Amino acid sequence: MNEPVLEIKNLNVDYGLGDQAVHAVRDVNLTLHRGEVLGLAGESGSGKSTLAYGLTRLLAPPGVVSGGEVIYHPEQGEPYDVLGLTDRQLQAFRWAETAIVFQGAMNSLNPVHKISTQLTDVLAAHEPQMSSHSRNARAREMLKLVGISADRMDAYPHQLSGGMRQRVMIGMALILQPQVVIMDEPTTALDVVMQRQILGQLIELRERLGFSVIFITHDLSLLVEFSNRIAIMYGGRIVEEAQAATLYKDSLHPYSNGLLSSFPALRGPRRELAGIPGSPPDLKGMPSGCSFHPRCPKAFDPCADNIPVLGRPDTPDGATRTVACWLHPVQQTVG
Ligand code: SF4
Repeated sequence: MNEPVLEIKNLNVDYGLGDQAVHAVRDVNLTLHRGEVLGLAGESGSGKSTLAYGLTRLLAPPGVVSGGEVIYHPEQGEPYDVLGLTDRQLQAFRWAETAIVFQGAMNSLNPVHKISTQLTDVLAAHEPQMSSHSRNARAREMLKLVGISADRMDAYPHQLSGGMRQRVMIGMALILQPQVVIMDEPTTALDVVMQRQILGQLIELRERLGFSVIFITHDLSLLVEFSNRIAIMYGGRIVEEAQAATLYKDSLHPYSNGLLSSFPALRGPRRELAGIPGSPPDLKGMPSGCSFHPRCPKAFDPCADNIPVLGRPDTPDGATRTVACWLHPVQQTVG
């Protein structure tokens, strides 16, 4: 899992222009490796979804990518910057190389078209040379892969349960066998049992088909269970990144600790949920210095005036993780 498939370099996303611009994503550097599940966690408004929309160029105005690169490494051929693609190239890139499953995706299906039509439409747009028979066969195969009987091909969305509709959306995202799948809060609207079933199945499919996943959620407990690595966002910046097990056992950033203590422990004795005091920062008026300092139980002298840089901490496992906090001096900055 060391070969990169997507490299996000110094990505900045703003809403609005000039002095009025709100900086929603700031200097984000992240690498997704082949076959990996990279979790992205943070409270609402931390910039997770804006990052996903920015890197796939799906931002609606007044959102604008104001800087950075998103380097995609195809299976064959030279890497290229997604931000530099023409509209036609971008159309070919979406679904075929990178697919996204949106928040509330199960409500994104067109209510007046059968499931079969919605699945085969993707194939018709991207592989026009494919016969109608082959498209139908591929759609049936995809439904089976996501755990839906092929005889539901002719169902309308309202005839399926919420979990089944979400599976159809995942099937649609995978139908062209993209290398990268971005899941933006994919199971938030489902109950806990269904969430785990669908995510377990997604991980199984990833092992079989070999794609990589960026999995965005505010639910850190889900990420600990299903991700290889986790990046934590706060105020539009990455504040910590580590292997999932490392972050769970030994997170360094006080915000990561706060997020972890907001969910029940996966194992071991019951503990009281502590949560994080205060509210996420207003992006129009970010606090000075470390943007977490007004809520941080460990804030000290430098925190209110100086922004901590993201870098490799001076710890035995420092080569495999990053953090941005004045409590942890960094040896090498990232970005
Ligand atoms: Fe807390 Fe200071 Fe670290 Fe920010 S830099 S998380 S305020 S200790």
